Amino acid sequence: MFLYRPCLFAETLYLSKMTHMNSVNEREIIIIGGGSAGLALGALLKNDGRDVLVLEAHKYPGGSSSYFHRGPFTFDAGATTFSGLADLRPIDLLIKKLCLTNQFTKIDPGIVFHLNNRFLLRPSNHQEWIKNFESFFNLHSTAEFWNKEKILHDKAWSIIQNFPYFPSFKFNFLSSYLNRKTLFASTLFPTLFESLEDALPLQLKNRSDVKSFLNELLFITAQNTSEHTPHLLAAMGLFYPEDTHYCYGGMNCFMHSLAEKTNIEYKQKVQSISKVQNKFLIKTTDKEFIAQKIISTIPIWNTKKLLSSELAPLISHNIDQLKEECWSAFSLYFAVPAKDRESLYYQIHFSPEEKSLHQIASFFVSFSAKDDEARAPRGFQTVTISIHMKPKKFKSKNEPDYQDQKLKYSKIILDKFLSVFDYRYEHIQHLTSGSPSTFARYTLREDGLVGGIPHDLKRFPFDLISPYTRDENFFLLGDTVFPGQGLAATIHGAQQLHKHLTLK
Ligand SMILES: Cc1cc2nc3c(=O)[nH]c(=O)nc-3n(C[C@H](O)[C@H](O)[C@H](O)COP(=O)(O)OP(=O)(O)OC[C@H]3O[C@@H](n4cnc5c(N)ncnc54)[C@H](O)[C@@H]3O)c2cc1C
Repeated sequence: MFLYRPCLFAETLYLSKMTHMNSVNEREIIIIGGGSAGLALGALLKNDGRDVLVLEAHKYPGGSSSYFHRGPFTFDAGATTFSGLADLRPIDLLIKKLCLTNQFTKIDPGIVFHLNNRFLLRPSNHQEWIKNFESFFNLHSTAEFWNKEKILHDKAWSIIQNFPYFPSFKFNFLSSYLNRKTLFASTLFPTLFESLEDALPLQLKNRSDVKSFLNELLFITAQNTSEHTPHLLAAMGLFYPEDTHYCYGGMNCFMHSLAEKTNIEYKQKVQSISKVQNKFLIKTTDKEFIAQKIISTIPIWNTKKLLSSELAPLISHNIDQLKEECWSAFSLYFAVPAKDRESLYYQIHFSPEEKSLHQIASFFVSFSAKDDEARAPRGFQTVTISIHMKPKKFKSKNEPDYQDQKLKYSKIILDKFLSVFDYRYEHIQHLTSGSPSTFARYTLREDGLVGGIPHDLKRFPFDLISPYTRDENFFLLGDTVFPGQGLAATIHGAQQLHKHLTLK
């Protein structure tokens, strides 16, 4: 008690001194990070008239869903594809709530796969997809499997939307699990404890080509293989291409639309977070802020490094282990002469021989729309290619072989791209590449670990990272927090936390 008093006195003095200084901003809610999660939550809170401020380290918004300009072209730097725009899904709800006026178009087929030198189209029509799948892999009677997965996919969405506190099982949230949906959810209980692989019918399980196809598809959303991805979450990944959309103007337009709906200060890289009395003191490179509530949307390992010793126990997860499992990316950006093709989104699979030679299984190709002149002049399209890459596999920027390694991967991917899409080297304009070091530099995510924590049965459902911490005013958000990676997930996370903050 004796020791505590002078400390409390000093804190009170500090707070009152600071709030009288012009450089200190006091806000009800401060959000760290102006990526998709931070912007969505910031916009929702401002829409309610709450006193909210987003602090973003860069001079533009977006984070892993950002953009850059080269010549007359605007490239999506990370995320390219929107999902979750179907009726009552997260992005649809966000657009309606905030009256966003971005122009979206549904892409159907949502993704085209290229494997075994053939294209496999994934249309949104369920029956048509089953027909394509069976004819491509020369299989019969897979409808029962796909129908079951479809039902599970719909129920999985319903669960994550109806249980706003999942995956937190804190005592004061337990009553929220008991609503009229609980009985319905209980029928899904077995799927919580099995992987997709456990649920595959034998005819699919025994086919290495089918399994390899499913694994690459799951990597887009779950970042894990069928053996490790919890069945419930895998079902959501399998149907991702049914709800694929393109935003005119790209991420640039969408992220700026969100940023305009909130209060945001750019070039405010948060350096430390501590607690003074019952408020948070946030220090950036050149300013100090006080907040009653704080939401960190940067990866949990980045957040942990900012916390004072008093706050550090709020993140108690085994961060080193989690980081080991995460991915970074290697990416290529360039422009090509425009062409008509089936889709804007392609996943190109390497053959087993190529895979063992290059140590790359697949890459994702996104074209800008042919008529999107905000991205490319008429007659051209921009291309963003991304590949999952372990940061340890890639040299860091200061190592001597860094440029050689970038060139090596660029060539492997470009050669495959040219052969699949029938272009020549002379067609490629403004070629640029991004390595894990590039992602670390632009997203500020430690080791360039982008895209969240892979969904894994060993963590599901009791060891997932929840937004709620032991401090009722300190929250975590973004793609390292459940439901994980991708805009639909980070925006859904923001919407659930928004509901909680609205009740408070
Ligand atoms: C190559 C690639 C392709 C992808 N493709 C898709 C796709 O097609 N569709 C899809 O839905 N998802 C895709 N994703 C995933 C998606 O981009 C991310 O899951 C999502 O954007 C994460 O948003 P976030 O808000 O959680 O984090 P981030 O986007 O990382 O945002 C965090 C923000 O915090 C800022 N920041 C960091 N540290 C500080 C600090 N100390 N102080 C202040 N600000 C700070 C950063 O600058 C950043 O703006 C892709 C990701 C990558 C990398």
